[in-house]
Order: sequence, then C-alpha cells, then structure tokens
Amino acid sequence: MRELENIVDEVVATDVLVIGGGLAGCFAAIAARGRGADVVVMEKADVRRSGDATFGIDHVGLRHDDPRISPVSPKEAARKLRENPFVDQRIPYEEVLAETYDRVMDLERMGCKVRRADGSFIRTPGISPATVLMMSVDQKKNLAQELGRLKVKVHNRTMMTDLLTYGGRVAGALGLNTRTGRFILFRAKAVVLATGKATRLYPNHQAPLGGFVVQGSSPACCGDGHAAAFRAGARLVNMEFSRYTLTPKNPAWWSSKGSMLHSKPPGLPEPLVDSRGRLLAELVQEEKGIDMLGTGGLYRKVWEMLKDGQGPLFYDMTSWPEENQKLITLGNVCERPIVLRYLRESGIDYRTHRVETSSLIHRCLELGVSGVKIDGQCRTSLPGLYAAGDIAGGTFFSALSGAITWGHRAGRFAAEYAACSELLPVDPGAVAEGRERVFRLLEGTGNLHWQELEKTIQLLLEDYVGAARNEPRMRRGRELLREVREKLLPQLKAANYHELMRSLEVGNILDVAEMHLLSALTRRETRFPGIRHYRIDYPHPDEENWRGKIVSLWREGEDIRIEILPPDQT
Ligand SMILES: Cc1cc2nc3c(=O)[nH]c(=O)nc-3n(C[C@H](O)[C@H](O)[C@H](O)COP(=O)(O)OP(=O)(O)OC[C@H]3O[C@@H](n4cnc5c(N)ncnc54)[C@H](O)[C@@H]3O)c2cc1C
Repeated sequence: MRELENIVDEVVATDVLVIGGGLAGCFAAIAARGRGADVVVMEKADVRRSGDATFGIDHVGLRHDDPRISPVSPKEAARKLRENPFVDQRIPYEEVLAETYDRVMDLERMGCKVRRADGSFIRTPGISPATVLMMSVDQKKNLAQELGRLKVKVHNRTMMTDLLTYGGRVAGALGLNTRTGRFILFRAKAVVLATGKATRLYPNHQAPLGGFVVQGSSPACCGDGHAAAFRAGARLVNMEFSRYTLTPKNPAWWSSKGSMLHSKPPGLPEPLVDSRGRLLAELVQEEKGIDMLGTGGLYRKVWEMLKDGQGPLFYDMTSWPEENQKLITLGNVCERPIVLRYLRESGIDYRTHRVETSSLIHRCLELGVSGVKIDGQCRTSLPGLYAAGDIAGGTFFSALSGAITWGHRAGRFAAEYAACSELLPVDPGAVAEGRERVFRLLEGTGNLHWQELEKTIQLLLEDYVGAARNEPRMRRGRELLREVREKLLPQLKAANYHELMRSLEVGNILDVAEMHLLSALTRRETRFPGIRHYRIDYPHPDEENWRGKIVSLWREGEDIRIEILPPDQT
C-alpha cells in the first residue's frame, strides 16, 4: 500500500462504492446501508442537486395490485413487457415492477409529497393510465438528507475517472476531486455504477452552449460510466438506438414537455400541428406506412418535414379540456416552477396560443435499452460491478420508476455480494496509469480546448450516423473517429481542474460515440418505428434475421468485440 499512497492523495476503503449520486445511486446507497454495509458515494456534482432529477420530477409510473393505487397490476405490466422480443426473459419483471410502489413510499417517508392529504394520487394518464403526479420538487434534497441520516460517506465534486479491476473482478475506482485536484483511490468489495444516461453525443443547435445542456438533462451525465465500464471489459448492449425528442422551442421551458404529454387527454396523439393547423398524427395515419405508427413514426414525420423545409411546427393544446390544461401547470409546479414564471413574464399562454416546437433534438441513447447490460439482480458481466438507472441497458424499464427500483435492487444485491467478499488487491501500475491519463491533460503541451473537441465529435456523429444511417457513411465516420482519437485527443489541454473534468468527459464521449457508431453499423435493418435506428440502406425491420437479436459489445485488451445474441444470452 505504501507505493499506492505515493501515487494517490487518499485511499478510501469500503464495502460498497456507489458511483453517481442521482436517483438510482442514492437509492442504491440507502439499500446497501440498510443491509449493514459500509457505503461510500462518489458524485461528480453535489448529491443535493445533481443528475436529471435536479429540478424535481413531476410524474411516476406505478403498478399495483390494488386498483385504487394503479389500474395496472405488476403482473399485467410484466406480461406486456415480456411480449417484446428484445426483452431478457430471465428478469423477474413482476417482482421488479411491484417494488416501485415501495420506493415511492420511501420517498414519501423522506418528506417528498406524492399523495393528497386523503392518501389519493393525482392521475396524469396522458401516456399511461399507470402514471401519477409527484407533488414536490425536493426529491434530491430529501435523498441527500437521508444519506446523511444513514451515515453514508459522500464524496461530492468527485468524478470517477476509471474503474479498477483485479483478476477479472472489480476492485474499486479512481476519482478526481474537481475542485481541489485530489486524486483518490476507492477500494470496494462491490461497486454500483449509477452515472445516468449518455447525453451530449450529438449537437443541440438550440442550446445556449451549442449542445451542452440537452433538453434539461444534466450535462454531467455524458457517458462516463458507459466508457469506464467498457474500458474495464463490461458488456454494453443496444448502443445503436437513439432517443430523439421535440420540445417547445425556448430552452426556458424545455422540461414542460413531460408535463404536457402526461397531461393530455387519454387517447389523443401528441398535439403536433403544422403551420396550417393540420394534426401531424393524422397526416402520418393517412400515409399508412407500417414504420410510421406511434410516437416514433410521428417523429420520423417531423424529421422529414423539417428536413424538407416544411416547418415551423407547433404544439397546440388550445382545444384541450380545461382540466388537462391545468394538469400541465401542476406538472410544472412540481418539476420546474421557474417555467411558469418564464411563461408569465414572456406572455406565453398555452391555453390560448399554440407554441412553436424545436427541431428534433438527439437527447441521448435510448433509455432502458442502450447501456451497460444488467440482469435481474443488476449484475453486469464483470463480477462485483452492478449498474442501475439510466446507465443500465436491456431493462426496458427506466426513468424515475426504473431508477429508484433498480437502484434499490442494485444496492441490496451489491451489499450481499460484499458481505461474502474481500477487498481485492489493487495493481499500483494500473493506478499510476489512471493518474497519468488524467493529469497529462493539465501538464501536456496540447492546445485543443474541450469544447472544440466535443463539437467536432458531435458534428461528426451528426454527419456520419445521425437520424438516417447508411453503411458507406458510417464506415467513413468510423475512419474519422479514429483520426479524432489518434490526432486530436492527444492535443486536449486543460487549464484548471474544471476544464480537466470537461476534457475527461469529452474523452468518454468519444468512447461512447465509437460504440454507438459500431453498433449502428452492425445492425443491418431499421428497428423500432421512427428514427431510433433508421437505416436508409435497410429501411425495414428484418424479422427473419434481426428480431430478438441484440448487439452486444465489450473490450478485450485493445480490441473491440461484437456479438449478436438473443437477449437472454447477453
Ligand atoms: C428535465 C427532466 C425531467 C424529467 N422528468 C421525469 C419525470 O417526471 N418522471 C420520470 O419518471 N422521469 C423523469 N425524468 C428522467 C429521470 O430524471 C431519470 O430517468 C433519472 O434521474 C435517472 O436516474 P439515474 O440515477 O440513473 O441518473 P441521474 O439521476 O441523472 O444521476 C446520475 C448521477 O451520476 C453523476 N455522475 C455522472 N458521471 C459521474 C462520474 N464520472 N463520477 C461521479 N458521478 C457521476 C451525475 O452527476 C448524477 O448525479 C426526467 C429527466 C429530465 C432530464
């Protein structure tokens, strides 16, 4: 250990290390602590205000056997999930889905308002009858207090830079304090990875910093965990699938989109209209293409219309019943009250006026689908490494419900694993290498700023992968990404610890971009309606060869391995 202490500024040893103190990470820490484990949380920002739930969450999907709580039972929801040929049938979905209610009640016990005084929920059935309103903006603050009460040790402002392995198992992680520059070795018997989704992959032409904040998502969630897991040898799945979104045009009320959709009268489509007031969903139906059904199909239509210069498009809620319009406002009160002030001050009233939409924004890789593959116990393919929340792949169960449910499960199972494991030795060579990888960005002679490189990668992905993909373009994109790695990445230079964090993030974005491109190149079909994975050279689903087939990739030494497998063999 003496040698290690010369390489790092601090060594922290624990039973369970949770990386990422967002919704999933906090629940993992609480559950592991509840099982008597010593728990440390490493969080890049500050657990009181971090991750995608920073501003609050306005809706949650609940399944319950008591119809007064939810019209959808866990059994029924699990049955529906299992009909999807891409779902891993080994996951005990009924058990998993039933746990969400307990977790929501945990939030209530911590002080988050989730029900009316009479114990009833407010339903927001616009997308699913199982959805109810969360009536508070303080989930993160209350979770942080709970961590304090349980004496979970939290390292805020500490970015995980690498996972450490020993003999094919996870031995801990390396962390950089982004304020002080302290470099910390975390040794743990089990590690839970909960670093959120992979955003900032594509340009967001509407964002103030050209793609930095993507539709209200936390910019800290940019694939650090995906990249570190990949470098450590874990398997990632479904990395080809993209999540595109449309929002009201002004960034100040991007987050209203969720409130809007969940408030819509059940059965009505997303209220998108063209400048002549024609409902886009009806236009799509008239075209009757099989790939044009559902929201995905709608977004493909939007993409085509905007590409062909047929904008602007609008959200039009003016004909909705008053009670649904009120629900939008209530959603905003619960998720981001600042939106209401913005609307008031700028004279925008969605009850009487339609609102212009943004162009399509690539928000992240598809949630609950793309990411680090987990099983029903949140185990990844690397022994000792667990994952939960938006980073977890192949679950088809994500967002708030997924994060708190999987997070709690990950914490429980990681604590059980830790209880019968020892701390593994740590290889000083790997730690020294990890340190060198970080600090050469400060000390090197390069002259490239992280923003320049981030923009380069984003534009490259937009040009060579994007919403309409084909083989020759992606092959060329692959060559260019290689050039970026070989020629530009070594030129990155950080002037301070903050820039050091951003520069490391951009390196991770490059890793994720490469996985995304390779997976998209591998899947020679169009899959899922819309533009989640739209191959113009294979414009239809190939049921014979690709139904129920998952693209799984991992790293072995310097090589990237790819396998195409049924979901229950990934
Ligand atoms: C604007 C907005 C509104 C939403 N509203 C709803 C809603 O109403 N209902 C719903 O169901 N879902 C909603 N969601 C989705 C929901 O917030 C996410 O699914 C959920 O927060 C995911 O939890 P998570 O723990 O996986 O990720 P997050 O909560 O995003 O947490 C990830 C954490 O990891 C940290 N981190 C990242 N990299 C590192 C690193 N290298 N080292 C250390 N820490 C790191 C981040 O700082 C962050 O704290 C919304 C999302 C957004 C963006």
